[in-house]
Amino acid sequence: MSSSSTTSSAAPAAGQPRPSTDRRGILFIISAPSGTGKTTLCKQLSANLPGLWHSISYTTRKPRSGEMHGREYYFIEEAPFREMIVRNEFVEWAQVYGHLYGTPWKSLTEKIDQGIDVLLEIDVQGAMQVKKQFEDSVPIFILPPSMTVLRSRLQTRASDSPEEIHRRLHEVREEVWSYREYAYVVRNLDLGQSLRDLESIFRSERLKTQRLNIKWLENNFIFDDDLQTGDRKDLPNR
Ligand code: ADP
Ligand code: 5GP
Repeated sequence: MSSSSTTSSAAPAAGQPRPSTDRRGILFIISAPSGTGKTTLCKQLSANLPGLWHSISYTTRKPRSGEMHGREYYFIEEAPFREMIVRNEFVEWAQVYGHLYGTPWKSLTEKIDQGIDVLLEIDVQGAMQVKKQFEDSVPIFILPPSMTVLRSRLQTRASDSPEEIHRRLHEVREEVWSYREYAYVVRNLDLGQSLRDLESIFRSERLKTQRLNIKWLENNFIFDDDLQTGDRKDLPNR
């Protein structure tokens, strides 16, 4: 991973994810066709799972009713977005459904360095770019139950015009074919079940042997002060 960020040592504010010292943060990537329910799932996941931070992207799309600058997205104009591209401030960026979206480097690498897991909710093109740069990231694809249900969810959400809904549905076939690029596939039929499935993935990934920080293990169990003064003589020769 090419991370050039500095690590912040500030304590987390109340309600913020707690850093982990025994491993680096994990990068979870979630993609799904528009209307599948990924925003709903991601919001609940980051509320339910301590130590998980939902990254905030930049976009040139206009805010929907109820969306807030700095909460769902940083809503900016195209010119400053393009300046950020030139300054290399995005891990990845893409044009999706006619608007620009980008994931900022700074906050993402700070969290990972602090041992906080990061949740990225991005489209398939962005996920492929991030996978290349962070080989140990965990890409997860969410599928809707069917095209009929997907259409009905987009209509019920009532946040996009009929033309925009048509444009989003048009992209589904191609997006769905990308499922093979993802480590996990979750079908979002029942919200509670999908949340349990996703939580199982997150918990299992956190327990993977390869993610444990060897320095933390050595400091706690090998170079232990008590062992140095007392029991070390009883240790077998290594
Ligand atoms: P996305 O972020 O993938 O575009 P949203 O999270 O905005 O999708 O969800 C689209 C609509 O579907 C919302 O109205 C949401 O409340 C609804 N929804 C999400 N998941 C489910 C589910 N499992 N069952 C029924 N409705 C759902
Ligand atoms: P929406 O406009 O519905 O919020 O999002 C449209 C699409 O853009 C979704 O597929 C969403 O995952 C994707 N998206 C959101 N943020 C980013 C980002 O930073 N990068 C990329 N590549 N896609 C993003």
